[in-house]
Amino acid sequence: MAGKITFTMIKPSAFRSNYTGGILKMINDAGFVIKAMKLTRLSKEQAGAFYEVHKGKPFYESLVEFMSSGPIVAAMLEKENAVDDFRTLIGATNPANAAEGTIRKLYAVSLQENAVHGSDSDENANIECDFFFSKIEII
Ligand code: ADP
Ligand code: MG
Repeated sequence: MAGKITFTMIKPSAFRSNYTGGILKMINDAGFVIKAMKLTRLSKEQAGAFYEVHKGKPFYESLVEFMSSGPIVAAMLEKENAVDDFRTLIGATNPANAAEGTIRKLYAVSLQENAVHGSDSDENANIECDFFFSKIEII
């Protein structure tokens, strides 16, 4: 059975452009409940660890640089079928391929600066929530 939890980050480009409110509204309007949330900034080491699965890929160094370039908003979200429904809400990784009305279609500026992160599996959603939130920070 699909899990109820996913994890998202509003990436530095979207935060800098003041898209945080618009993105959170879309998330709430789609039926996701915010279970934990924080505004923070990743060091290069932390961004590198978060994206460890991409280590070795041509875009990894630049992704780490970008993700540590400014504040991000991290959030744990709850909904039935959370991982898949959230991936549908954000759209394709490359905004050029993202469906109309998706968060990435509306707020991304490029493949790298694609506005938001979304977990790709229940297992990774749990790992990513653990990366950012302790027990006392989750409602
Ligand atoms: P998603 O975020 O949709 O799960 P991936 O896990 O494949 O996508 O990639 C993680 C992030 O790395 C993307 O959201 C994007 O910011 C960046 N990225 C992925 N592929 C590329 C690429 N070819 N060039 C530049 N950045 C990329
Ligand atoms: Mg991914």
